[in-house]
Amino acid sequence: MIEKHESSDRALAELVAQLGRIAYGEGFVDGLTPAQWTALRYYARANRFSRTVSAFAEFHATSRGTASQTVKSLVNQGYLTRTRSERDGRSARLDVTEKGKAALAGDPLEILVGATQALSPTARMSLESALERMVRYVAQEHGRCPFGMCPSCLHLRGDGSCVEGRPPYECGFLDEPLEEAELGQVCVNFEPGGNSALKRSFAEERPE
Ligand code: SF4
Repeated sequence: MIEKHESSDRALAELVAQLGRIAYGEGFVDGLTPAQWTALRYYARANRFSRTVSAFAEFHATSRGTASQTVKSLVNQGYLTRTRSERDGRSARLDVTEKGKAALAGDPLEILVGATQALSPTARMSLESALERMVRYVAQEHGRCPFGMCPSCLHLRGDGSCVEGRPPYECGFLDEPLEEAELGQVCVNFEPGGNSALKRSFAEERPE
C-alpha cells in the first residue's frame, strides 16, 4: 500500500516536471530565451514592491548576477523600462513596456493556459491550491520566499470597505494602501495566512 502511494507520488512529481519541461521547451520563440520569457512574465504579474532585480532573482531561484543580465538584455531590447524607486532611491523598479506587452500577447506559455482553461472551474481551483502548496513547500525547503498574492497573505488589512478614512485595502508589511487591481499581483513579501473568505471571493470573481 505504502509502495503504491510512493509510486503515485513520484508519478505526480514527474507530471509537474514534465509541464515545466514543456514550458521551457516552448520558450525559444521570437528571439527570446526561456529565462527572458520568465522575466517578462514575472514583471507583468509582480506588484510594484516586487518589480526589482533581486525579487526576480528570488522568484526564478537564480543568482542576482544572472537575473541582472537577463533584465539588462530585456531593457536593451525595449521590453522593460527601468525607473528609480520612489520608496528607496538605491533600487530601481522594472516595468513592462508596450513592446513587452505586445510580445506577451504571443506568449508561448499560452499552450499551458489553454490546457488549464480546458479544466472545469472546480478542477482548476483544486489544482491551483495544490500547486501553490507544492511551490510553498519547495520554497520553504530551500529557504526561499514563497511568493503569493494579497488575498492569501497574512499582511493584508481591510475587506474592501472604507472605514474612518482608511483605504479599502492596505499592506500591513509596508504600511501602504493597495489598489484593488494590485490584490491579484505576485508579491515577494507575501506570507501565507490570509483571509480565506476574501481569497474565495477573489478566486470566484476572476475571469474564466
Ligand atoms: S499584503 Fe502581503 S502580498 Fe499584499 S502587498 Fe502586502 S506583503 Fe505583499
